[in-house]
Parts: sequence; C-alpha cells; structure tokens
Amino acid sequence: MSAIYLDHAARTPLDERVAAAMTTAYAELVGSPHNLNHPFGRRAWEAIEVARHEIACAIGARSDQIFFTSGATESNNLALLGSGATNRLVVTCVTEHASVLEPLEQLERAGGHVVRLQVDRSGHLDAETLVAATTSATQLVSLMWVNNELGTVHPVADLAARVRRPGLLFHVDAAQAFGRVPMNVTDAGVDLVTLSAHKAGGPSGIGALFVRDARLLHPMLFGGGQQTGLRPGSLPTALCVGFGVAARRVREELTSDGANLTRSTSRLRTALQQRIGALTFLTPVRGAAPGILSVAFDGAAAEDVLALVGDELAIAAGSACSTGNGRPSHVLEALPVSPSVRHNTLRLSPGRGTTDAELDRAVEVLASAIALLRGLSDPTRAIPSSSNVLDQRGS
Ligand code: PMP
Repeated sequence: MSAIYLDHAARTPLDERVAAAMTTAYAELVGSPHNLNHPFGRRAWEAIEVARHEIACAIGARSDQIFFTSGATESNNLALLGSGATNRLVVTCVTEHASVLEPLEQLERAGGHVVRLQVDRSGHLDAETLVAATTSATQLVSLMWVNNELGTVHPVADLAARVRRPGLLFHVDAAQAFGRVPMNVTDAGVDLVTLSAHKAGGPSGIGALFVRDARLLHPMLFGGGQQTGLRPGSLPTALCVGFGVAARRVREELTSDGANLTRSTSRLRTALQQRIGALTFLTPVRGAAPGILSVAFDGAAAEDVLALVGDELAIAAGSACSTGNGRPSHVLEALPVSPSVRHNTLRLSPGRGTTDAELDRAVEVLASAIALLRGLSDPTRAIPSSSNVLDQRGS
C-alpha cells in the first residue's frame, strides 16, 4: 500500500493542468521573455503576462502590482528588507514564519526595533494588542494570513483597517492563504502580500509579491532591470506559466475546493477524537483555514509517532521547516501550552485530492502507533494485539 500524503501545507502535488501547461511551455516557449526583438521572445513574454494577469485576478490586484520571485521566502525578504525600515519600528507576531522573523532580525541588527506580539493558545492575535503596539512611529506591520502550523487565520482586513495611516506599510505573508481562503488584497487594504506557487498546485521555485505601489519598496537585487528593476533577473517562463494556471484554478475552484477541504478536515478531527481520544487540538474549530490540523496526543511524543508511521503516513511534527532538531518549533514554543503538548504536536494536512478512505486509513495507522506508545509509557495498560502498529505494516 502506498503512503498517504497528509503534508500539503509543506507542498501540494503539481496539478495535472499545471504540469501539462508547463510541459508545453518548456517545449515551445524557448525564447528569452526579455528579448522582444523576435517572435520567440515576444511569445514567452506574452505567456508570462497572461500568468501575471491570472495571479492578479486570483487575489483582486492589477497585473502591474505582481512581481515574480523565487518563492515566499524571497517575497518576504523583499517586502521586509526592501521596506527600508532600518532605524524604524516594526510590529510582527511571534508565530510568523522564519522567512519573516529572520529578515526582521537583520533589520534589528541594522538599528531597527521589532515588537513581536504574543498570541493565545490557538494562535489568535488580539486586535487591541496590535493597536496598542502600533504607534505613529511604526513603519511596518507584518502578519501572516494563515498560520502554516496551526491553520489559524488572522483577519487581515480588519487588522489593517485598525492600524492604517499614511506612511505605514502593512505586509501579509499569504503563502498558506492562497488556495485555502478567499483573498482580495485591494479590499483588505494591505500594501505587500507574499505568495508561493507550490502551496496551491503550482511548481516549486516561483512565488510573487503583490506591491500596492512600487514606489513603496527598494530592490534587494540589482542588475538587468527586469520587472521595473524591483526584482531583476530573467524570468523562468515555464514556472511563471505554471503559477498562472495554478492561480486560475484557485480563482475558479476555491469555493468547491474549500468546501471539500473543510469537510475532510472536520472528518479527520472527529475520527481522531472518536478513535484515539485523549488529545488536544491546537487548531481552533472557528477561525482556522481548512486543510491544516494541529493535534497533540497524550502519551505519544511527536517524533516517536513519526518514527512508527513514517513509511505509511506523510505528516509533520509541528512544522516541516523545524523538524530534525528534536525541538518544538518556534510557533509551538510561543503558545501558552504545556511542554508535553509542544512535544506531542503533529500537523496533519489533507489536500484537494485526499480521499475519505485515505483519511480513515490514516486515523487507523495513527491509532495503532499511539496505542503502542501509550502502552509502552504505561506498563499497567495492556496493548490490544490488533493495535500493534507492527502488525499493521504491509497489510
Ligand atoms: N511563509 C509561510 C507561511 C510558509 O508556510 C512557507 C513555507 N513553509 C514560506 C513562507 C516559505 O515558502 P517558500 O517555500 O515558497 O519559500
């Protein structure tokens, strides 16, 4: 039996329509999109502009506000370091992605002052806390739309409205929001928005930054002058085309995908509760995007569960970005929860292609592993033989 993929928050499989469009682009769009003197170059350029338009439409922006990058990490770096907020005040949140927190440490080393706001145990930020922290000297606010470990949604439109004033830049890392929740960056009134294609059925290695007004930002790379000089470098035509097709799919199918994903996520939640029990969900029932479920099982350390289920279930301990060092991620460290919850937290992330049968099988695999671990940690508890995870392997 092949492994069940419940790690879509780390990367989504390439959508088949994206793959087909990219294969055609690799074969046929051979010219440099930056050489418009010949038809090869012009065709590549036109294809990139169609993609840019699709991305803009998917998030309620104009094409000239979309700048291609290599992914969300680069977009976050460009937004934060390009804002010129050295020597100024920046407000962010402790649960942001490392690609936000680490550039902000750079700004601090250059003389900036960063305020990192705390969240509640579900990862929610209190709007009053944000308002109180944002003064007339604040130049930049950076908050994610959807948290990659918890699924918790920040109501960015409401938060931006509370702190908006001339001279303040509001950046949103929307890497996990794109394809999960409806987004209209113009209505939300934000200035800079980070996107990544591989979180929404697109290829890896390409992302974008929405920039409301290009005069707000300084480039971080120099040379070539492409994309009005804000993000120079030859554009990868096939990757841009793939991102564009993924964005069109998001625009056309978000409503049905979102409903399916919401149903899958709550099926998983109910089944884990009923079949395994003695658990803590960190992902809130309300105020979370579908497709991310963060859960800690009593008496079962996350790394032990991963070691037992690894060949059958693709899941993450806290965050794929921070596994490997045996420590809870910075997001879990920041939450007001017990150390055992931190150490036991797993992230289950179904996607649009995940079937009910896969979800049910995943719960059985987890139930067997957790029964084994709970039995080991409590010698007075008998381990039912049918629960031994080793019995289930290869069945
Ligand atoms: N921000 C968030 C919220 C993410 O989840 C990720 C990927 N885990 C990133 C940024 C970085 O994305 P990329 O891989 O496109 O650089």
